[in-house]
Amino acid sequence: MDLTSLTVHELSGLLQKREVSSVEAAQAYLNRIASLNARLGAYITVTADEAIEAAKEADKRLLSGASSPLTGVPVSVKDIFCTAGVKTTCASKILERFIPVYDAAVVARLKDAGAVILGKNNMDEFAMGSSTENSAFFPARNPWDLQRVPGGSSGGSASAVAADLSAASVGTDTGGSIRQPASCCGVVGLKPTYGRVSRYGMIAFASSLDQAGPITKDVTDAAIMLKAIAGFDPLDSTSVDLSVPDFPCLLSGGVKGLRLGIPKEYFIEGMDSQVSASVNDALDCLKKEGALIVPITLPHTEYAVSVYYLLATAEASSNLARFDGVKYGLRVGAANLIDMYKKSRAAGFGAEVKRRIMLGTYALSAGYYDAYYKKASEVRALIKRDFDEAFKVCDVIATPTCPTPAFKLGEKTQDPLTMYLSDIFTISCNLAGIPGISMPCGFTKGKLPIGLQLLGRPFDEATILRAAYTFERTAGIGKEKPAL
Ligand code: GLN
Repeated sequence: MDLTSLTVHELSGLLQKREVSSVEAAQAYLNRIASLNARLGAYITVTADEAIEAAKEADKRLLSGASSPLTGVPVSVKDIFCTAGVKTTCASKILERFIPVYDAAVVARLKDAGAVILGKNNMDEFAMGSSTENSAFFPARNPWDLQRVPGGSSGGSASAVAADLSAASVGTDTGGSIRQPASCCGVVGLKPTYGRVSRYGMIAFASSLDQAGPITKDVTDAAIMLKAIAGFDPLDSTSVDLSVPDFPCLLSGGVKGLRLGIPKEYFIEGMDSQVSASVNDALDCLKKEGALIVPITLPHTEYAVSVYYLLATAEASSNLARFDGVKYGLRVGAANLIDMYKKSRAAGFGAEVKRRIMLGTYALSAGYYDAYYKKASEVRALIKRDFDEAFKVCDVIATPTCPTPAFKLGEKTQDPLTMYLSDIFTISCNLAGIPGISMPCGFTKGKLPIGLQLLGRPFDEATILRAAYTFERTAGIGKEKPAL
């Protein structure tokens, strides 16, 4: 049996019954990584020795009976999460040799659950991008077509999960970076409610938007992973002190009577016709299962991309000020302190990161603050209010995740604006702080995955997971694997 083709819950079943060992599972994944990572670029760092050690510990735990659904399961994390003793680069030259002394909360929770960490997934530098081409080291590729991007910024995570180089991964989503790559690679990606998962030890991009969440082979695995990583953390002041529902136990129950809001602003002119056809089929399927289709409007949608690129760059310019050659990472020597800052940052940051720092610094500078940052914050409140209004008449909002399937490498690198538009359907969710999931809903004729996005009320991940699970079950979608 090919252990790497199994979902977390399938593998966990075998581990619990002792039909396979965690060491065998970890070895199977490490072998597959060794044979495919050079082509896929899904991992920046593979921690083979640490993984085998952790797997041995997990096997002991499994024998003792003190295990969780993740005990012994090989997973990976985006290289934005600090890992004690293991290089954490954020796909940037400036952190190329950075070895944190502590684990991010997400990593600590995975380890506590007994998960075996295989390594650190590739990403766009500092999570800025939609294609993983902004990695300072090498791009990640889409397992369905190696000439195409896996999406971004968590493209390494999505590529790894889709290609069975990891049973599940944790990514981050500031404007779509979990859902958009999940959609491009035909896997499940869940951005939890802002505050649901601790950001402690997760390198900050735009702190009011960043949120960690799972990228998995199916919906059940997303529920298992979310349960493991979610929960209050006093070390993150934005973490919310709410009990974590038992997500995997809340998947069944169906969608009878569930009101599915369809925002007219998300079914637009110019959208890929295969994407809209596939998403419409998914809606029909949910309707047959008893969901009620409710047309809704989110009138401020057209401002979301502009608002996001003001707020996210402003926050990034502030967050990235800490990378100065003194406290972290790369230092380029110079005659005086100011030159040292300049040279270190000039050599350490890539072009997109520099562009964002400049845009953000401009938006925050005296005289422009009211016109840009303040205005954008006000429009953000209107976008959030659109969702509050919509959720008075519906329980879940359904949209495509992306306007097009995965694009070719190099296709959008020359034009940042077209790249920014890849996130047109995912960004509002971050601005509003609500949860969203992307799941496969079909393929194009050229065999590229298409994603369905479901958005929910704040802290109601359970309902979007249940709707997603119902669709996955009835449509029987998401089982197919890329031929590699
Ligand atoms: N693609 C968006 C950006 O470039 C979103 C990135 C993200 O969610 N981290 O900012």
